[in-house]
Amino acid sequence: MTAVLTVDLAAFQRNLDVVRERVAPAELMLVVKDDAYAHGLEPIVTHAARHGVRWFGAFDVATGLRVRAIAGPDAGIFVWMVFGVEEARRAIDAALDLGVGDADTLEEVALAAEAAGRTARLHLKIDTGLHRNGVRPEQWPAFVERAAELAAAGVVEIIGVWSHIAEASDAEDDAARARYEAALRVVEARGQQRTLRHLAASAASFDRTGFRYDMVRVGAFCYGIRSAGGPGEDVLGVQPIATLDAPVLALGDEGVRIGIGSADGLPSVLGGRMSVGTPDGPRRMLRIDEMDCLVEPWPGAAVGQRVRIMGQGTSSPTDLAEAMGSIGEEIAVRVSPLVERRYR
Ligand SMILES: *Cc1c(COP(=O)(O)O)cnc(C)c1O
Repeated sequence: MTAVLTVDLAAFQRNLDVVRERVAPAELMLVVKDDAYAHGLEPIVTHAARHGVRWFGAFDVATGLRVRAIAGPDAGIFVWMVFGVEEARRAIDAALDLGVGDADTLEEVALAAEAAGRTARLHLKIDTGLHRNGVRPEQWPAFVERAAELAAAGVVEIIGVWSHIAEASDAEDDAARARYEAALRVVEARGQQRTLRHLAASAASFDRTGFRYDMVRVGAFCYGIRSAGGPGEDVLGVQPIATLDAPVLALGDEGVRIGIGSADGLPSVLGGRMSVGTPDGPRRMLRIDEMDCLVEPWPGAAVGQRVRIMGQGTSSPTDLAEAMGSIGEEIAVRVSPLVERRYR
């Protein structure tokens, strides 16, 4: 009798359809970092691959290798965190596409490709203002020059040019996009005309036509997680695909004790700031302890009944995030891996 996270794969598919229709003709890259935002990598990738998703964004090499095993040889798999020659070699052997955002990594990947006897597939990353990683504009021409040299030698292939943007304000995003365009012109001036261009994540890919280019990297909206402070699920046409339920453990004077706590990933700061769905309608969450929590009583409350903590019919991850000044992704990925996942 514990908490359960149930993932609705039909809802996932509807979200995928909405996102793909919206961004077409740009291609969807489904971002599956953090165990597919804690929805479970294997079922999510399996389902998406079966329903026509051709690109996956996997963040690190370990995840990329898992996606390769699940999605098969034809999937495009993009990883953008590569550490050292050894890891680059494993990625190249599995035909992962590598996002490279600094000169040292470029050299490591080249060494790994030579050792593997295979051409590494690269997406060059320009820093358009986030300063997370990515080649600074002043170093970009030399970086592109070196990548082109390695490409001419058959060591690497330049597949794409990409960046990541804040999606916090249109003005900042516009400035980032101008830097991205300048970086593209440097690559095109070298005669590299047919690179895959990708810049936008969920919010910009939905709202801003000019940011879609050839491909968009979308995680949040595919899982039905809207942007905090942004348009609602009804406007976007997506819905949260996960519901989190937990059982009634005991009835007491203080309230009804429910079997989910901060150790399961429910932030204790949400005590007093959220409600849960009970068989008698919504009730206030009074307090969240480590192993359990306390909810305002309802008539007919009984041990073993289940209440809905998050998802369809009650708060979405982003609703909860907004109650604590965070973002929906954070709430979603905090659900402990020890909480049982079910799929339907
Ligand atoms: C997480 C991530 C995305 C997806 O962002 P969402 O807002 O969840 O769609 C895209 N690109 C990069 C580089 C990321 O790290």
